[in-house]
Amino acid sequence: MKNLITACSIIFVCLVAFYFFILKPEKYEESDLYEAIIHRDYIKVGINTDSKPFGFIDEKGEVQGYDADFARYIAQYILQNPNKVKFIPVTPANRMLKVSTDEVDMVIATMTITSQRKDIIDFSVPYDSAGQALLVKTSSKITSLGELNGQNIGVIWGTTAEKNLLNIMPNAHVMGFKTYKEAYRALKNGQINAITSDDTILSGFALDDKEVKLLPKRYSREPYGVGFKKSKTTHKLRKIVNEAIIDMKQKNVINRLHKKWLE
Ligand code: GLU
Repeated sequence: MKNLITACSIIFVCLVAFYFFILKPEKYEESDLYEAIIHRDYIKVGINTDSKPFGFIDEKGEVQGYDADFARYIAQYILQNPNKVKFIPVTPANRMLKVSTDEVDMVIATMTITSQRKDIIDFSVPYDSAGQALLVKTSSKITSLGELNGQNIGVIWGTTAEKNLLNIMPNAHVMGFKTYKEAYRALKNGQINAITSDDTILSGFALDDKEVKLLPKRYSREPYGVGFKKSKTTHKLRKIVNEAIIDMKQKNVINRLHKKWLE
């Protein structure tokens, strides 16, 4: 009886090892996100929904903006239909997790390509770029970051501006917010003296509200890329998205998007 139990245990361990080490890796390599999207017939895109003019919800409850149009173009390129996109809201703080855990197929959310982020996720080639800037009240005398020493500066958690600020001004009074709307409210009610983030996003607030202004200085260059899970399963998808971006550049689509949403 004892021998039988030992034999059964050995066979069980061998079967488990066979499954995990022989079968599973093969299956893993075979599964491909591009093929899965073709089969599913829509793309799950993680997008910011409070970053006008890049990603925001319009009066009809639909996601609009530069990144939304850009995502629709990619859907057109891959599935021949611009509407085959399911938008899933992400924030700068959770987007890398959402793409790494397959909640979304890709992140299109004013996301800067950085070497630190490249250790965790993969990126497409850049499709546009921005620069870190300051948004202050129109009545403010502030003209640059240096003058904000000892004052409260708002950042959005998880953004490059949050990191850059800590490098440029290690002693700054930094207040973190989850969303741009919350930071904007804090600026309006005097809780903070400035918000720092991408000029492209902050300009949306300055365009809509004459009580706030975007200062002309830039503190970084922020090339935007589409983010993918770091895995063999996304290699083909990333290659096709890169092709779509090159196609968009050749056909002037990026220029048109830039004009439509940023000028
Ligand atoms: N481009 C900046 C970043 O990737 C800001 C993006 C955002 O606020 O969504 O951190």
